[in-house]
Amino acid sequence: MSKNAELFERAQRSIPGGVNSPVRAFRSVGGTPRFLARAQGAYVWDADGKQYTDYVGSWGPAILGHAHPEVIEAVQRAAINGLSFGAPTEGEIEMAELLIELLPSIEMVRLVSSGTEATMSAIRLARGFTGRDAIVKFEGCYHGHADSLLVKAGSGLLTFGNPSSGGVPADFAKHTLVLDYNSIPALEECFATRGKDIACVIIEPVAGNMNLVRPSQEYMDRLRALCTEHGAVLIFDEVMTGFRVGLQGVQGLYKITPDLTTLGKIIGGGMPVGAFGGKREIMECIAPLGTVYQAGTLSGSPVAVAAGLATLKLIRQPGFYETLTARTSAFADGMAAAAAKHGLAFSAQAVGAMFGLYFSQDVPQSFADVMASDRERFNRFFHLMLDAGHYLAPSAFEAGFVSAAHSEADIAATLTAADAAFCAL
Ligand code: PMP
Repeated sequence: MSKNAELFERAQRSIPGGVNSPVRAFRSVGGTPRFLARAQGAYVWDADGKQYTDYVGSWGPAILGHAHPEVIEAVQRAAINGLSFGAPTEGEIEMAELLIELLPSIEMVRLVSSGTEATMSAIRLARGFTGRDAIVKFEGCYHGHADSLLVKAGSGLLTFGNPSSGGVPADFAKHTLVLDYNSIPALEECFATRGKDIACVIIEPVAGNMNLVRPSQEYMDRLRALCTEHGAVLIFDEVMTGFRVGLQGVQGLYKITPDLTTLGKIIGGGMPVGAFGGKREIMECIAPLGTVYQAGTLSGSPVAVAAGLATLKLIRQPGFYETLTARTSAFADGMAAAAAKHGLAFSAQAVGAMFGLYFSQDVPQSFADVMASDRERFNRFFHLMLDAGHYLAPSAFEAGFVSAAHSEADIAATLTAADAAFCAL
């Protein structure tokens, strides 16, 4: 029995499903999850010592590749001075100032310890600021696991949502409206009928949790205008896209100013961090200045902040995103070309250093399009790639990530493996 299989058996005896976050369990693709022992640059090694080129990157944070020496050094230096104090530190100000400098929509920002905390807090803040209860989210967008966000669409357009998880009271879900992503008519109807009740709209401005879906500019402009018109807070959840699609996130790409932004992943450089920030007027409603309560024992962890600062320092260097974006696009184009050679219904696209691979003829524009792709084919493709030493996200409904540590040779080797996998399909 492989060490991976042995560990998986053992893990399932003490940890539900053997994992501490569900997607790690390979339920969607089947088979045994790889227990990772270490990572360096573009590679990870599993418990059996097998090496993989990694396109998951800890689900986004590892934009510099794993264990970048400058990030590790910053972490070591911070750790020596103490792991956490529960008191303010200078590093937190540096991080806040840097986020404000890089993302012009952010005038004030607060650090938390995960993306979930960031979105949960932003929603509470939007409700406190507006005095309204209803929130709007979109089918296929994931914003972490707060109760009011684990909601799926009700039976008809504009009915309030139903819980998508056990343990979420219907009374909570009924305040969440779930709309089709990238549909202007759905947005307009929603605001026309409920506009005055809506505290906020939360959106993945490029969606990375239903594979990769890129909304139209027109749609995003309309969303911004409707929120302004109706006094609803527009929250861009850039936990995944922030510093991933470019230095200014999706807000920079689409030239839209959200009222609040949530961040995570890259700003922690691989350590547990999240952040939410935006308009001063809204942020001043947070305790201790305002009435909206929000707190955290480990918020602004000095070690996590050090990792984040070291990461941000490197990614803001001139040319960083140009090279990374070009490499990611070459990867997506190469995948599409290889599949076309074998006559497969397949498409691919990249946005910055994120990519989507789809077993469908055309690049999906909506949640329904993504759901219509051939999931069984993806699953077979995933395992062929994994066997060949290329680690893709273990689900047809996740985006992928390229890091600055992926060389042209790494990408070329993965494309060669993909060509063989497509041929076998
Ligand atoms: N928002 C988005 C867009 C995410 O992709 C995620 C996690 N993948 C979260 C929020 C939740 O972040 P965390 O897992 O750190 O709680």
